[in-house]
Amino acid sequence: MVSATTVQNISPGDGLGVRSSCRFCDYLERGPDDFEQWAIVAETEHLVAVPSVGPLVPGWLLVLPKEHVLSFGAVATDRLAVLMADVYRIAEHWQDSFGPLTWFEHGPTEDRSSVGCGVDHAHLHLVPAGQLDLLAGARELFPYLAFREVSGPEAASIPVALGHSYLYLRTENGRSWLAASQDIPSQAFRRVIAHQQGRPDQYDWKAFQRLDAVEATLKLVGRLDSSA
Ligand SMILES: [Zn+2]
Ligand SMILES: [Zn+2]
Repeated sequence: MVSATTVQNISPGDGLGVRSSCRFCDYLERGPDDFEQWAIVAETEHLVAVPSVGPLVPGWLLVLPKEHVLSFGAVATDRLAVLMADVYRIAEHWQDSFGPLTWFEHGPTEDRSSVGCGVDHAHLHLVPAGQLDLLAGARELFPYLAFREVSGPEAASIPVALGHSYLYLRTENGRSWLAASQDIPSQAFRRVIAHQQGRPDQYDWKAFQRLDAVEATLKLVGRLDSSA
């Protein structure tokens, strides 16, 4: 089930574990033909970035670790710092084209959980959210979720250790927010954005893939390589 190329760089205890079956790892191993909507537009030593299928705003980016892990909250703190340094590099590059970015993660604690957007591989959403206020929107739409300000994404290790799913949000001003619960709806921040845009029924990326918008983003950036 697990190929040598997937596990060779993974050391025990760093939070980056063995996968069972993962579309994204398959994509990285076999190349874009297997899932052609995912075109890599930026790559660093540890991460790749692909335009999100189903973008609700232009320039919606997903950033994924090259090694398999279920969520960023499951990554050991020192390792997470290494990954986040790469996220910052990609974000800086990307916002030159699309403006200030809001980051968020739907953090599941188990495979095939509805929280994780249907992809069991950690991915951070980097979204040019413009005038949208995702924190206020999330508090309005999910009043039972308590968003607390936290120091950064490393705070997500706490709910993960307790077996709770989480939502992580980093607003444009660099402040981080976390809500943990065993009852988080699927694609929560996508629901928030669609709700704020007045089309609440169109949040689901599987039903509204907007591949024309993905293509427009790819054309705009000319498939940038952020390692330059
Ligand atoms: Zn994976
Ligand atoms: Zn997601």
